[in-house]
Amino acid sequence: MSDACAENGLRSVEAAKQMLIDSINPITETEIIPLSQACGRVLAAPVLSALNLPPCDNSAMDGYALCGESERYTLMGKSLAGHPFAGTLEPGQATRITTGAAVPAGADRVQMQENCTLEGDQLTMSRPAKPGENIRRRGEDVHTGQSLIPVGAKIKVPHIALLAAAGVAEVTVLRKLKAALLSIGDELKPLGTPASELGDGDIYDSNRIALYAALEQLDVDILDLGCYPDQPEEIREAFIHARNNADFVITSGGVSVGEADYTKTVLQELGEIDFWKLAIKPGKPFAFGRLPKTNGETLFFGLPGNPVSAIVTLYQLVVPALEKLRGTSEQYRQPPVQLRARLLNGIRKKPGRTDYQRGFTYRDGDGIQVVETRGIQGSHILSGFASANCFVVLPREGGDCETGDWVTVEPFTAPLK
Ligand code: AMP
Ligand code: MG
Repeated sequence: MSDACAENGLRSVEAAKQMLIDSINPITETEIIPLSQACGRVLAAPVLSALNLPPCDNSAMDGYALCGESERYTLMGKSLAGHPFAGTLEPGQATRITTGAAVPAGADRVQMQENCTLEGDQLTMSRPAKPGENIRRRGEDVHTGQSLIPVGAKIKVPHIALLAAAGVAEVTVLRKLKAALLSIGDELKPLGTPASELGDGDIYDSNRIALYAALEQLDVDILDLGCYPDQPEEIREAFIHARNNADFVITSGGVSVGEADYTKTVLQELGEIDFWKLAIKPGKPFAFGRLPKTNGETLFFGLPGNPVSAIVTLYQLVVPALEKLRGTSEQYRQPPVQLRARLLNGIRKKPGRTDYQRGFTYRDGDGIQVVETRGIQGSHILSGFASANCFVVLPREGGDCETGDWVTVEPFTAPLK
């Protein structure tokens, strides 16, 4: 047993996450796309600014551009956004100026209009403007040749704003990942089957739909292979198809030690798969491996079948692994933000597994971050999960918690939000 498998034979969540990240090599294929479509993609080539931002000294206010310090100024004209003043100001001269308009040559300060009185062409003010006041300097945001965002950055709305301001119309990004998605279980029926036609013990294949939605949020292309019975032949065919057409395969169900779990046998024929028992609640069984193919390999993530476990393990383990696979650099792969919150209810917990309880966190009337757990904390209880907005993360070795205890919460982020 390796170090990662601590007491009680279970692998810690942290160790499992690290192992996934360490064993994944990012994709390298890139594509050039319009900037407007780049949100959420990973930058693959440097982007250097072709200009200064702001491109010229300009006014931060609507008011008057002034040359030097004076009791009164003579108005010489105006500088409007998009229509600069053509001349050069001499000491004691001023122009009208609007926000964003170029500061005329010779002007060294801008006085906001609220402080000014204009009589004829004579301008006086209630207080003097200081040198440089209200002037936004050329290049103070970005200078020509500067790297705008680092390679490996996950492009977000502020990046788009910056790149667009620098005139960048297209970016080179890593290609999207392709997922193959399937469910396994004789009891599973596709959505659309009338409830009256469900046999005894049948359930809807809800995991595949939830995982599909989550992968879409993660901007992954999805090959939805549907739902398979517990039949080795059919499962083998499905895995071969999945392997040949995707970067990674996600299944749910069939990774625990039930009698009809053929997944293991079939996968072990096709590649190298490890079946882990994780110190996580919900979600103990989890499989990870690789299916070799002529042009590389396809990763395999086998999620537990219980619906809450499937989503929790996707969120805690697969999402960080996919971030590495899609080329996001370490700086942009930060773990989820955690807050401290005060418990509004007691929690029963046995030491041994990190517990990700489903909760609702908010600031109470006194401004204190509080959290209450939602619903029965069973791995099959979706109603509580659906009314939650965070995980209450209870450390592996911890036991019961009492009302008023401070606990760690992780507000849901993508793809749960
Ligand atoms: P298994 O891991 O196959 O033993 O499944 C564990 C539990 O998860 C069982 O109650 C299954 O019925 C349920 N389950 C498995 N796959 C799905 C699925 N795709 N959608 C909803 N529940 C599932
Ligand atoms: Mg099953």
